[in-house]
Amino acid sequence: MIKVAIVGYGNLGRGVERSLKQNPDMELVGVFTRRAPETVETDGATAYHMQDLVAKKNEIDVCILCGGSATDLPVQTPEITQHFNTVDSFDTHAKIPEHFAAVDQVAKENHTVSVISTGWDPGLFSLNRLYAQAILPQGETYTFWGKGVSQGHSDALRRIEGIADATQYTIPNTEIIERLKAGEKLTLTTRDKHLRECFVVLEEGADEEKITEEIVTMPNYFSDYDTTVHFISQEELNRDHKAAPHGGTVLHTGTTHENTKQVIEYRLDLESNPEFTASVLVAYARAAVRLANEKQFGAFTVLDIAPKYLSPIDVETLRKELL
Ligand code: NDP
Repeated sequence: MIKVAIVGYGNLGRGVERSLKQNPDMELVGVFTRRAPETVETDGATAYHMQDLVAKKNEIDVCILCGGSATDLPVQTPEITQHFNTVDSFDTHAKIPEHFAAVDQVAKENHTVSVISTGWDPGLFSLNRLYAQAILPQGETYTFWGKGVSQGHSDALRRIEGIADATQYTIPNTEIIERLKAGEKLTLTTRDKHLRECFVVLEEGADEEKITEEIVTMPNYFSDYDTTVHFISQEELNRDHKAAPHGGTVLHTGTTHENTKQVIEYRLDLESNPEFTASVLVAYARAAVRLANEKQFGAFTVLDIAPKYLSPIDVETLRKELL
């Protein structure tokens, strides 16, 4: 039995608790939080304060770190990897090499394993980009996200004066995807690939026209996209736009000999982004424990780990059933 601790209990932490219930080779020791544990409502797991984590060292095989990428994980992953095998979902793409180097050093010094930046992107999408490019070097890879809720863009909307609440969807341009799959060679701009759709609740007296203008011209977030804005009531937003769906497509189109067209497509259609991401973290937690048992200490990403380490099924059976 693999003994697991959840560190940080937000959307992802809640998802890990659910996922562990579907994995009979794993057992949840508890949830560890920086908040007062009695204020954290779990789905049955015992909640402890973070300061009690290290004392439970002998009872835990791996910690699944569910903190945020912006400020939690850059601190928590190296700190906790001093004492435990860890898995995180660090998704600030540009800072992954830096995060990897910091965690790798700690893991090697302390004889632990840390799988960083797993989930779906970075994670399963990264793996599929690698497979596609290695197999069809004569080709192009495209990643399309959505339809899904972008937390960052929804937060940006909520920071605008006059907006009470908002949800933003990133929508892939399906016409472009079909044209690429049909073999067209296209030079794509940011605007060509995705659309942005905003559902906004206004504060009393706020001006629709002014706020629309402020949204569609917002640099970095909306100005490079075709953006539509819908004004709705809080009741409507709560009823129809509070779920966290996401997904996307990694598309690789290539040729082998002359014009022999080859298309690889990997697609995720997720009703709950955090629950799916959590399920990926749980599979990689199993891999982390196996690597530690083999004394392969250090930091790893999805690109470094052989697929057999993810499965609860022994490799002889996998060879019989999946090959
Ligand atoms: P949340 O904001 O829900 O949780 C982050 C942390 O905030 C928690 O660990 C928790 O720590 C604290 N927290 C949660 N709820 C509360 C609350 N009510 N009051 C005070 N503190 C709270 O983030 P998510 O779980 O949604 O996402 C975590 C990270 O996962 C994201 O930053 C993102 O980078 C990453 N991610 C990665 C993906 C991938 O594909 N690689 C996909 C999706 C997400 P504590 O319990 O210690 O207070």
